[in-house]
Amino acid sequence: MSTFKSLGLNDAILQAITDMGFETPSEVQEKAIPIVLEQETDLVALAQTGTGKTAAFGFPMLQKINLDSRTTQGLILSPTRELCLQITNELIAYGKYMKGLNVVSIYGGASIQDQAKQIKKGAQIIVATPGRMKDMIGRRMIDISKIEYCVLDEADEMLNMGFFEDITEILSHSPKDKSTWLFSATMPKEVATIAKKFMNNPEEVTVGSKNVGSENVSHEYYLVNARDRYQALKRLADANPEIFSVIFCRTKRDTQKVAEQLITDGYNAGAIHGDLSQNQRDMVMKSFRTRQIQMLVATDVAARGIDVDDITHVINYQLPDEIETYTHRSGRTGRAGKTGVSMVIVSKSEVRKIRTIEKMIQKSFDKKDIPSGMAICE
Ligand code: ADP
Ligand code: MG
Repeated sequence: MSTFKSLGLNDAILQAITDMGFETPSEVQEKAIPIVLEQETDLVALAQTGTGKTAAFGFPMLQKINLDSRTTQGLILSPTRELCLQITNELIAYGKYMKGLNVVSIYGGASIQDQAKQIKKGAQIIVATPGRMKDMIGRRMIDISKIEYCVLDEADEMLNMGFFEDITEILSHSPKDKSTWLFSATMPKEVATIAKKFMNNPEEVTVGSKNVGSENVSHEYYLVNARDRYQALKRLADANPEIFSVIFCRTKRDTQKVAEQLITDGYNAGAIHGDLSQNQRDMVMKSFRTRQIQMLVATDVAARGIDVDDITHVINYQLPDEIETYTHRSGRTGRAGKTGVSMVIVSKSEVRKIRTIEKMIQKSFDKKDIPSGMAICE
């Protein structure tokens, strides 16, 4: 079995890893880290959510950058502000023994001038959302002409969110001979296209089979009349008083509505979606992390990749339009070796979608009844 040391990581990083309490590398770390440490190569890594992809690119990037220079050497593109902040915080923790390290995050909804100021001080690594990054490159606030490493994190989601053009524009300002590392949970054809377009004969690492969710998550579905969806949600919450969950809705409007209803009905709930201000989003995430909120109602985009410990249940209040999104949703639970449950509330007309998902995740769902005798779809 490999250790972090045997992967070739240096003492500063090993010490930080010990402090964080990571004992052994995860599979994607074990496979990806030696490849990119040893060779200047492009990499495509496919691994489900919660498998430690951040460290899989974070450790080697930190090890490779030159701390004596303040030139930007590494760029990490990630789909949302929350993820940028999460990645930045992780990199800072991994690099706590690296003197002179400066990691800056760049995202929309915050002052561009402040971000430009931070960049001016010199950041070896920039973690950015594509929209704001493109904007700042266009305004010549950021120079990425010397980067050596570029990570496309959650590539499937960035493309789902329509960032293809922005990514293309950003990368056109970067050197041709950099190494590009693409990380993704799923491999839809758009990701294959981007890999082909931007990468040169990449090494490939796959952990588990594509789109297959975590072993630690069990899947359940509850058949209800469409009009009873909300009642069903309440019963599920009542039956699990210790619930700490993310509840997924399809639209921002439904997300807000369900959260408001839950709050009215006395639950510790909150909403996160793109119509909230960044400030509101930060506050909601903080309340969720500190458990003041037990039920976070979310859109797929807002909840993407969010790594909150010990989520017990993921509830699909409505199924997503794209079935691959289901893997992302259920991946919010069952992380870091813990178990979790992914529940789906469905009406009769949607049951065939459950079958499609079962094929994709290669696991079967348990059909369950809503607790305490609610009339189930006759
Ligand atoms: P992904 O990007 O694949 O969804 P993350 O990088 O967010 O996953 O990691 C998921 C969680 O697992 C994080 O809380 C992270 O700190 C933790 N983690 C990562 N690597 C290890 C490891 N080798 N041992 C223990 N925990 C780890
Ligand atoms: Mg991730």
